[in-house]
Amino acid sequence: EAVKLYPFIQRVADKMALAFQEKGIHFEYRCPSSLSLQIDPNRFEQVLVNVLDNALKYSKRGGHVRLDVEEKSKHVLITVADEGIGIPEEDVPFVFERFYRVDKSRARSSGGSGLGLSIVKEIVEAHGGTVKLESKVNKGTMITIELERDIEQ
Ligand code: ATP
Ligand code: MG
Repeated sequence: EAVKLYPFIQRVADKMALAFQEKGIHFEYRCPSSLSLQIDPNRFEQVLVNVLDNALKYSKRGGHVRLDVEEKSKHVLITVADEGIGIPEEDVPFVFERFYRVDKSRARSSGGSGLGLSIVKEIVEAHGGTVKLESKVNKGTMITIELERDIEQ
């Protein structure tokens, strides 16, 4: 299904905006207005919600979270960057595995099952895309999703 990206992103971002506001985190998004993509909107909403939920959960009050959609010649890049607690280098390779959570011993106030990113990866790959994560402890985390553009555009 060809989905117009701007209204789609806006709708998902609006759903999350209150949660960011309540935690005192500055949330911004940017997306070109003319872009359409072949995606399953319900499944892809789950992708964005899972990634934004992490950015929210693992950020501190006063932090910034940015969602950016960028048009490349053959691809669309969707990035979500936060300024949160980050992930130790040795854990980064495993975060897309099911039930993997960093720092299991220290009971985090933020609950979760460790499934969010495994679902993200599954859905993005089902769309023919890729997802990667870069992170630095106490600096922040960035997720990059790369999808192929519509051929008919
Ligand atoms: P769920 O998403 O199922 O509620 P979860 O958030 O713990 O639980 P994932 O979303 O799969 O699980 O993330 C796996 C782990 O990676 C998290 O437990 C957390 O340790 C780490 N992580 C993911 N995103 C971030 C982020 N933006 N900042 C810091 N750590 C993160
Ligand atoms: Mg999660």
